[in-house]
Amino acid sequence: MHQSAIAGSGSSIRKALILLGLSLGIIIASLASSRAGLEVATLHPMVTDLAREVGGKHVIVFPLMKAGEDIHNFRPSSSDMARARSADILLASGKGLELYLPRLRKALSGSTRVIEAGNAVRSVKLSAKDALFACCPEHAAGSIDPHWWHSVSGMKRAAAYVAREFGKTDPANKDAYTSNARVWGKKLDALETWAKREISRIPRSKRYLVTAHAAFGYFCRDFGFVSIPVAGPSEGNVSSKYLAEAIGQIRKNSVSVAFPEINANPRALDSIIKTTGIRRGKALIADGSESSTSTYRAFIEHNIKVIISGLAG
Ligand SMILES: [Zn+2]
Ligand SMILES: [Zn+2]
Repeated sequence: MHQSAIAGSGSSIRKALILLGLSLGIIIASLASSRAGLEVATLHPMVTDLAREVGGKHVIVFPLMKAGEDIHNFRPSSSDMARARSADILLASGKGLELYLPRLRKALSGSTRVIEAGNAVRSVKLSAKDALFACCPEHAAGSIDPHWWHSVSGMKRAAAYVAREFGKTDPANKDAYTSNARVWGKKLDALETWAKREISRIPRSKRYLVTAHAAFGYFCRDFGFVSIPVAGPSEGNVSSKYLAEAIGQIRKNSVSVAFPEINANPRALDSIIKTTGIRRGKALIADGSESSTSTYRAFIEHNIKVIISGLAG
């Protein structure tokens, strides 16, 4: 009696243990399946959106550069470095935007893979005239224009490239990354089709884009505009010779509007507007870092709407 009671309780304990083991197994399995495949630190608000779109639920994104920061003067802090070191991947914008990237790459070697999203995008080179109004002296004539995010088809190529790179580090979720990039690519196609349809309302003879710094090279290449930058991102040494030339071009081509930039010093543009009497458009987002528009789609839609309101009709 006593023995069978013990046997009985022994078997219930066994059953309870088996049940416990099963539920633990289920908990562990569900934890494993919900655990992100990759941790990705990002260096530009537009590549943050790219990482989220391509990574989906398999990636945790840590934006080192937040929307609204000055992309040309950003330098990773020591806590950014620690974050980058513990991530699997550091996703940079690339194309020479991050002048500190070679040093960063060296500092991270072994712990974190560095991927440059812009690698997949066909480059625009800065002309001598545009380089006068580039972001910094390092971006001189003949160097690659780093502002590739203005190319919607370029962003689509970057997504496919980043998906392949994520898949190399996290092969278990390779197919998910490929499929996410394809889904986002279709949305980007639709965004570009919409943008081209909107732009078709602007007569060809009016497709001059007068902006502050030379950030719209990719936009002008893809959408058929002539880019006329007239001032750097901050007060620099604007050559009076070029200013005279820019004013000449504005007059010769009957350019009607100059677009200021969000986060740019307006002074040089102000003097051009005063000298030529052209209208001031609404502000464009040049560097893809504006706190009110942190998604890529919102960024493109903002600029297209501003350009249409300034140049169509
Ligand atoms: Zn620069
Ligand atoms: Zn810029």
